[in-house]
Amino acid sequence: MAEPVLPYGRQTIEDDDIAAVVEALKSDFLTTGPRVEAFETAFAETVGARHAVACANGTAALHLAMLALDVQPGEVVIAPSITFLATANCARYVGAEVVFADVDPDNGLMTPETLADALTRVGHRKLRAVLPVHLRGDAVNLPKLAELASGAGAVLVEDAPHALGTTMTFGNVAERVGDARHSAMATFSFHPVKTIATGEGGMVTTNDPALAERLRVMRSHGMVRPEGADPWWYEMPEPGFNYRLPDILCALGLSQLKKLPRFAARRRALAKAYEAALAPLAPVVRIATRPAWSDPVLHLMCVLIDFEAAGMTRRAVVEALREKGVGTQVHYIPVHRQPYYAERYGTLDLPGAEGWYDRCLSLPLYPGMADGDVGRVVEALRAVLGA
Ligand SMILES: *Cc1c(COP(=O)(O)O)cnc(C)c1O
Repeated sequence: MAEPVLPYGRQTIEDDDIAAVVEALKSDFLTTGPRVEAFETAFAETVGARHAVACANGTAALHLAMLALDVQPGEVVIAPSITFLATANCARYVGAEVVFADVDPDNGLMTPETLADALTRVGHRKLRAVLPVHLRGDAVNLPKLAELASGAGAVLVEDAPHALGTTMTFGNVAERVGDARHSAMATFSFHPVKTIATGEGGMVTTNDPALAERLRVMRSHGMVRPEGADPWWYEMPEPGFNYRLPDILCALGLSQLKKLPRFAARRRALAKAYEAALAPLAPVVRIATRPAWSDPVLHLMCVLIDFEAAGMTRRAVVEALREKGVGTQVHYIPVHRQPYYAERYGTLDLPGAEGWYDRCLSLPLYPGMADGDVGRVVEALRAVLGA
């Protein structure tokens, strides 16, 4: 009989999480109730931002960020090619065009160099936003990217679903991902594989009260209630969406957020165990390189495998690992290669993205892994590669 397969990621839901949801279900509010604001307040405090706006999912968070900035059709947004589809798609939702930035082939991150190259491809169009992704959980070089973006008349919007809990040091200043010191906004997702889970769920953080207000308005149909108006009155200056996160899920989010220190410590410990166990597999297997300023809570345990040196295709490795009970995933297929974008923008030459994609494989990483699991995964990888 085949061994049960460890997934590359999964949620950790405990009895008190379930109790919190049950309590919400028995309360007066299923959707917009007191737990929404409580979750937002706790989240803002956790990441060190002034405002946090909860929403339906991480994709809605990105869409809301574009709406809050009032990005217009024909304007430009820069996104890295190594990311989930939604980072680029949010630009298209508002009619903006995507310029894909390349990434560092050894860690998958947008760099000042790859952003500078992308800026040369904006042309005479108006650049509004640059969307760096803290891929795997390691932070990008925010101050440098912000300087370049600002020099081009744009702001940063951090797509941060991988990096809840990650800290960084720029100069001597300790910062947290999501504190939005260098960006207009940062977006998060609470999809089950992310660091905390609400099923579907997302958040946008910002220090700008005007952006926070616009995020809230566009999250709920574009409705505003002018001060002093009749109690039933609302107005819609422009159409928004129903991107609310229900009270039931905010109850789960609040409960999960309390566990972030424990989840983060467990992820850090597992990542450390991986680093030690994988070291003997070099140079065929290497770990994604760590930027000097980043102290990550990793969402993904990405390794880079020289499949040619191993004499195996990635497919064969993935299938053999699965046989041994190890689930894996590829993060990500370069987005610029997706048929939609290839048709719209033609063939792009992004060697860093290709170099990352050719070698990357995400191994299981989540707080519920047993102590022996890391050794089991690495032993399976060693056996499969014949190393
Ligand atoms: C998960 C994720 C999203 C989308 O979040 P959903 O909640 O699934 O909509 C966007 N960007 C990145 C980098 C992600 O990892």
